[in-house]
Amino acid sequence: MITEESIKEALTQVKYPGFSRDIVAFGLLKEVKIDGADVEVVIAIQTRDSKIPEQIFKDSQDILNKIEGIGVTRVNIDVKNPDAGVQGGGEGGTSAGKSSIPGVKKVIAVGSGKGGVGKSTVSSNLAVALAKQGYKVGLCDCDLYGPSTGQMFGTEQQPMANEKDEIIPIQAHGVKLMSMSFLVDDSSPVIVRGPLATRYTQQFLRQVEWGQLDYLILDLPPGTGDIQLTIVQSLALDGAVIVTTPQEVALIDARKAVTMFAKVNVEILGVVENMSWFECAHGEKYHIFGDGGGVREAERMKVPLLAQVPIDVHTRECADAGQPIALLDGAKSTTSAAFGELAGKLVEIVSK
Ligand code: ADP
Repeated sequence: MITEESIKEALTQVKYPGFSRDIVAFGLLKEVKIDGADVEVVIAIQTRDSKIPEQIFKDSQDILNKIEGIGVTRVNIDVKNPDAGVQGGGEGGTSAGKSSIPGVKKVIAVGSGKGGVGKSTVSSNLAVALAKQGYKVGLCDCDLYGPSTGQMFGTEQQPMANEKDEIIPIQAHGVKLMSMSFLVDDSSPVIVRGPLATRYTQQFLRQVEWGQLDYLILDLPPGTGDIQLTIVQSLALDGAVIVTTPQEVALIDARKAVTMFAKVNVEILGVVENMSWFECAHGEKYHIFGDGGGVREAERMKVPLLAQVPIDVHTRECADAGQPIALLDGAKSTTSAAFGELAGKLVEIVSK
């Protein structure tokens, strides 16, 4: 018979890494939920060392799975940054309560104040460029309503679940792909609204079998509403990239995205200016959406301008054909080279 007591008892076998005391004695076990044979536990840890939650997660999972008659087990680790109390600041303004995903080293969000500026194009190509540089990469399309990642990667595959009920990502072009749209049936997208959507997105990222990843790229939904805020608030992000086009109306929205990240203490890693210019067959550049908006905005925010990506037919064709342009040799495509450079700069910034 599985009871709260028997679960607590079992978890006393999990030692805090480097200590002889166990996680229950340390008071880290916050919650035990039992549903028949299925068990969910919440363990809260204060640490800056990502290896500690990973170890506790693994040990707890192993111990629980050894219990006779146990069903599905879920170990939720709530990692609190010990510095959170002094960071202070506004609404949700500390990193307390944000958790990391075991096995995932860096999580980078890609956001924009509005749709259509190329946020998904940048996320997809950034993921491909990182994978080309030898990193283990995951990409999650967090848009419940207008997902595009499957199409950009040329896959219509539906994911399967593993025995722990976690979703197994689809693999394409060297990237592990996941989309929140898998949660909603194509015919019923309107049902998942408001609080339900927020709850889904909160749980979703932890219910994916990401395995070991160097980088997880989150393609946030456009805008700065509830879902975006939930994601950036509930997960320990290593930073955010803002995508914008150069014209003033896009920049105004980009500033709103910056404000949202600032509210929850997420560092802005830099700006990507997309559709910076169009180069005609004769090599002449046309600044269709204005010249230098992204450069000025990055200066204003005191963050790096990470890349300027031209607008070109080939980029759109590649996206529509499910072959992100970053797959091409950088020597043959300036756009692919720009994404390669973007990946390189981000690696440098987040590893500092
Ligand atoms: P968002 O995610 O911001 O809504 P998308 O990445 O879906 O925007 O891009 C919108 C459309 O613009 C897509 O058809 C995409 O292929 C196209 N697009 C984006 N960036 C470029 C670019 N640099 N050159 C050409 N087409 C682009």
